Amino acid sequence: MGVPRAPQGVHGEADDSVDPVRVIRKRRPRRSRGWSLETAAREFVWLWDSRHGTSFQEIANREGVTPSRVKFGVARAKSHERSSRSAGQTPVPRLSPLFPVGPYTPASPCGHHRPIRAGSSLCCMVCHVSGLDGHPAFARDPKTDPTPEPAPPESLLDALPAKETRKQKRKRLQADKGGVK
Ligand SMILES: [Zn+2]
Repeated sequence: MGVPRAPQGVHGEADDSVDPVRVIRKRRPRRSRGWSLETAAREFVWLWDSRHGTSFQEIANREGVTPSRVKFGVARAKSHERSSRSAGQTPVPRLSPLFPVGPYTPASPCGHHRPIRAGSSLCCMVCHVSGLDGHPAFARDPKTDPTPEPAPPESLLDALPAKETRKQKRKRLQADKGGVK
């Protein structure tokens, strides 16, 4: 968990009653120089976790901080998300890939048994349906659409081996026999 043991008490004896996290927090004054990239990244992970059902308490336990610190971090990440949204045009929501539970092959069945709930950030990797398909950020723009693949040239189609009918095969085999004779 990255939380070191509680340091020795002020009077030299180990003080097990003191929460190690509290001691460290007291000893290291919080830098008031704003939001470091490292903290921002951490708080975005908390936001993601909390949106995916992890409670503040669980995150706090894992990170060795207090639940109120997690709550604060999640709120800060959320507000940052909102401000970066207003800066751009249409924010592109982040989707979470949903793989089949089990082997992922071209013949794999979808990992979901029911349609993906509208508004969900899950995107099925098999049928490519997501819960945000109607989102304006995902609307197609003819200007940026890729050009359609050109049809294969006729000459290439001609070069493909034609499927032989049974009649043709019989004829060919007859001809081969005749050649051997
Ligand atoms: Zn699917």
